[in-house]
Amino acid sequence: MNRRLFIGSVAVATSALGMSRKLPAAPKYIFLMIGDGMGEAQREIAERYIRMKYPKRDTGLVMNQLPVRGKMTTHNISGGITDSAASGTALACGQKTVDGAVCMAEDLKTPLRPVAYDAQEAGMKVGIVTSVPVDHATPACFYARVPKRGMYYEIDEQITPTGFEYFAGETLLGRKKAKGKTSPDELIQQGGYQLVQDRVGFDALKNGDSKIVVEHDLGYAIDGKQEISLADLTAKGIEVLDGKQGFFMMVEGGKIDWSGHANDLATNIHETLAFDEAVAVAKAFCDRHPDDSLLIVTADHETGGLELESAVPDMVATIDAQEFRGQKYMSEVSGWKKSGSVSAETACDRLVKSFGLSSIPAEEAAHIQVAVAETMSDEADDTRAPEIQKMYGKRNAAVMSCQHALAGQAGATWTSYKHTLVPVTTTAYGRWADRFGGDYDNADIGKRLKQLIQS
Ligand SMILES: [Zn+2]
Repeated sequence: MNRRLFIGSVAVATSALGMSRKLPAAPKYIFLMIGDGMGEAQREIAERYIRMKYPKRDTGLVMNQLPVRGKMTTHNISGGITDSAASGTALACGQKTVDGAVCMAEDLKTPLRPVAYDAQEAGMKVGIVTSVPVDHATPACFYARVPKRGMYYEIDEQITPTGFEYFAGETLLGRKKAKGKTSPDELIQQGGYQLVQDRVGFDALKNGDSKIVVEHDLGYAIDGKQEISLADLTAKGIEVLDGKQGFFMMVEGGKIDWSGHANDLATNIHETLAFDEAVAVAKAFCDRHPDDSLLIVTADHETGGLELESAVPDMVATIDAQEFRGQKYMSEVSGWKKSGSVSAETACDRLVKSFGLSSIPAEEAAHIQVAVAETMSDEADDTRAPEIQKMYGKRNAAVMSCQHALAGQAGATWTSYKHTLVPVTTTAYGRWADRFGGDYDNADIGKRLKQLIQS
């Protein structure tokens, strides 16, 4: 029996009309939106960018305007810096665990229960939406249970047994681990699901369609118009899932984290904006269903140790001057290297110009020149000077140097290539939003959502 349809209702007097109407005790529509690696600084610098870019517009990011604001700790079970699996498990299951575990307790044996199953049991439909593969750690935490997040094939095997109505993300990582096993295509089809990989198939999806896996590479927002964006995946999810049963939808902006690891500020800002467009889609839906919807926008942790300095007047021009994400320049550099037709000096010049950088401090310029020369040489990575390696880790020093220079000119500094322990911001909207204000821990999101759904 569908419990949700028989939930006790609360009578609320609408005095203006002199009559009472029934309001549901639990939300019928729930959006849990997770900016992976999106700390307060990431939200703030994207806000700064959009307000400076459109000064006549009165508003910044949709997610930053939601009325309820909370501060959330993200540490793993031992108090250390979390990975996406441990934090995803806390958000989804309301219980903390060790890094790498997807919905498994600390013993790596006891399965935990993601809130999406509570939603399903309560009669709601379920959507799992992400800008990265759906078998990546964060989305996996809402349906799969594995002791190690890298068990992508085992995660893929757990997609169709969920019975969830809508999965949408990039090419499954399990495809690379399927050699000698049933292919993910067959897993999906044998499970009675429809695999949708192109725009035509995606556009054809309609309300009431069920058991869908959308697999489409979104790319990066900075690299040009996306054929299908995270906002599109979210809007389609609403279209497919909407109905009297209501739905629970998890939406992840996964590449905010990836560009944070890469210390690529322009890419990071564009990914945060793309995520905010998805938030806008969800909020517009909630505006049409004010009595029975809940929207939560949060993060699993901060990535990159982003620090903000004073706003600089030409920030927008600085960010917009970068044409592609930094990692893409690496393929250009290796092309030059292979062709042998470009000297290190020219390569350096072109790299710096492609980032739109004109005035780089002499010391920084010297580092870039050294790094480009070493990238262009045959033994590139092995021959880099120790101080360069120390400064840039395993990443390409030339690209990293340009990215750090660009961030500096835009009023920000990356202080880490990893996740950090700094608390993240949660904002919320809808009748139950105030339950997500104040100070709390990431596991409280899972606990409170479960309480709400079970109420
Ligand atoms: Zn993460």
